[in-house]
Formats: sequence, structure tokens, C-alpha cells
Amino acid sequence: MSKEIWVWAEQRQGRLMPVSLELLGKGQELSRKLGGKVAAVLMGAEVRELAAELLEHGCEKVYVAEDPILSLYQSGPYGNLLAGYIEESKPEIVLWGATSVGGELAAWVAARLRTGLTAHCIDLYIDDIKGKPQLVQVVPGWGGNLALKIVCDTTPQMATVKPGVMAEAPRTKAQGEILPLAVEIKGGDFRAETIEIVEEELEERPLEEAKIVVAGGWGLNSLGSFELVGELAKVLGGAVGGTRPALDKGWITESSLIGQSGKTVSPDLFISLGASGAAQFTTGFEKAKVILAVEQNPQAPIFEIADIGIVGDLKSILPLLIQELKKGL
Ligand SMILES: Cc1cc2nc3c(=O)[nH]c(=O)nc-3n(C[C@H](O)[C@H](O)[C@H](O)COP(=O)(O)OP(=O)(O)OC[C@H]3O[C@@H](n4cnc5c(N)ncnc54)[C@H](O)[C@@H]3O)c2cc1C
Repeated sequence: MSKEIWVWAEQRQGRLMPVSLELLGKGQELSRKLGGKVAAVLMGAEVRELAAELLEHGCEKVYVAEDPILSLYQSGPYGNLLAGYIEESKPEIVLWGATSVGGELAAWVAARLRTGLTAHCIDLYIDDIKGKPQLVQVVPGWGGNLALKIVCDTTPQMATVKPGVMAEAPRTKAQGEILPLAVEIKGGDFRAETIEIVEEELEERPLEEAKIVVAGGWGLNSLGSFELVGELAKVLGGAVGGTRPALDKGWITESSLIGQSGKTVSPDLFISLGASGAAQFTTGFEKAKVILAVEQNPQAPIFEIADIGIVGDLKSILPLLIQELKKGL
């Protein structure tokens, strides 16, 4: 059997999670070095249309486990089924989105298969190690100051990657095939049962999907409020994020924290306001196309990664920036 790289194609309420297409892009890159095919595993009640979407993004095989019993994500049945499929087909590598569901499922499957799992990778590549091609899994370590490379001896080699870290697989002519998987669920699989999934209502677009992200740090304290960060984001049609102190202060929620413990974003424009630029923060947006930073300390590390740096006091710069942008729109 030829080597396969599997991507767990996460879907929620019939919508493919963008991270699945991002992993597909990385899977295609890895397969060019490793050889073999890139396959996606799709599970749910009626997911055929999503299989077509995966093929349109260059997936060579889509394994589909389709059954009404899979309409809601259930850790037991999903985990046991997936572990069984992996044991049978023996893919070399399995990639998962580091979402709340993907992270749980990956850990479940890794435990069942007694294989390793590297969480929250920031890069993946194939290298020759001890005479054979291996998956090198890169994660931030030592508070984000080092990039650690992890290689796992057991197969499949498994990694999770946060949404927004990798580039999405481009659209192409669909040439792959759809292969059905048998769905056999045993009674004991339902030790915990998902009864309903309630989606959090977001007032704005998810951070990872925004083309412009405006993030505020502790420096906003000198303005007495975080409001102007939201105002700037609104003028630009962007989303609001923040640093750890902004979260601690209650200015942002957990879902808007950017960095090592929060989200990774790669927008066209990232604006950092009053943040010193600690590695644990900058690791969350270093792939942004353009980084603009406003900060009063010219020695702050944020200026090492900023494409455009403004040294000055937010109290005078931020209202002016908003005012001028409003004029131009
Ligand atoms: C394991 C671990 C994980 C972590 N994960 C994260 C994470 O995911 N995300 C994260 O953000 N942090 C994280 N941190 C914390 C991180 O190390 C930093 O402490 C944090 O990012 C600093 O936030 P800040 O830049 O807002 O605050 P500060 O470092 O205090 O910087 C505030 C900046 O504002 C400037 N300033 C003040 N007033 C003004 C003004 N009027 N005008 C202009 N500039 C002004 C100051 O000069 C200063 O540089 C983590 C730490 C650890 C140990």
C-alpha cells in the first residue's frame, strides 16, 4: 500500500473548518517530499458535499464515514472509529486542527493507538533522520524563545496545528476519489454523549478569518480604556485582539487572546498598539503580511518584527489615526 498522509477534515453543522483546508495544503507539501497520497477523513451525517469541496482543493482521496449517528461530534464513537480506520489503513502521518474538538479527538486517538502526538505545531516538514524520511514537528518552547523540533518514532506520526498557521490548499481541478468507510458503533462507545451543540454568537468575524487585526496591550491602560482599539478595528473593518495583560484586565475575552496561549493569526495587516512585543505574543502573528506597531518605547522588541513602527504616545496617536482614517473612508 502506498504511503498516505491523512488530514482529519473537521466539519461543524455541515461547514468545513478552514483549518482542514490549511492542513490539506501542508499535507500536499509534505507528500511531495515523502511520496504517497494526501487523504482526508470526513465524518458526519450528510457530508458528501464537503467531500467534493476537499477534492476541489487537491485532496487525492476522501474517506467518508457517513451515518445519522455521527451528526453531532461524540468523542467516544468518533475516537474509536477513527482509531480503527487508522489501524486498518496505516497512514504514515495524521494531521489535526488544534480546535477544541480536534485537540480532544487527536489525544483520544493517540492514546488508543499508543503513538505520539505533538500539539500546536508552528511548522512541519520532512527530513532524512537516521536514513529515513521523518516528519519534523516544530513547536515553540521556552516561553516562545526557541523553536523545538520533535520527531516521533512510532507511527502514525501525529500533530495538531492551530487554525491560521498554515496556508490553505489552493483550488484546483478535482481529480481524487471518494471512498466510503464502514460505521460500526458499539454500545460502550457512548460513555459521554453530546446532546446539543450551541454555537457562541460572535459579534464580529472570527479573528483567524479577519484580513485586518487590531490588537491592544497593556499600554492601553494609559488611555483608561480599550475602546479606541475597537473603534480603529471598526473603521478598518477588522477584528479586535489583545495581549495577556489585556485579557487579565478584562478588556478582551479568551477567544481574542493572541499568542502562544491564544490564537495564531496571519492577516494582511496586523496593528499592535501599546504592546512591548514579548515572544509569547509575537508568535501569534509573525506570519501577518504587514505589521504596524505603535509603542512609546523605541527599544521595545515589537519593532524588531514590525514593518512599520511608530514611536509615540497612544494618547495622541490613536485618536488622530482614527480621525484621519475616517476622513479617508
Ligand atoms: C508560558 C507563557 C505564555 C504566554 N502566552 C502569552 C500569549 O499567548 N499572549 C500574550 O500576549 N502574552 C503571553 N504571555 C505573556 C507575555 O510574556 C507578556 O508578558 C505579554 O505579552 C506582555 O503584554 P503587553 O505587551 O501588553 O504588556 P507590556 O509588556 O507591559 O507592554 C506594554 C507596552 O505598552 C507601552 N506603553 C505604555 N503606555 C503607552 C502609551 N501611552 N503609548 C504607547 N505605548 C505605551 C509600554 O512602553 C510597553 O512596552 C505568556 C507568558 C508565558 C510565560
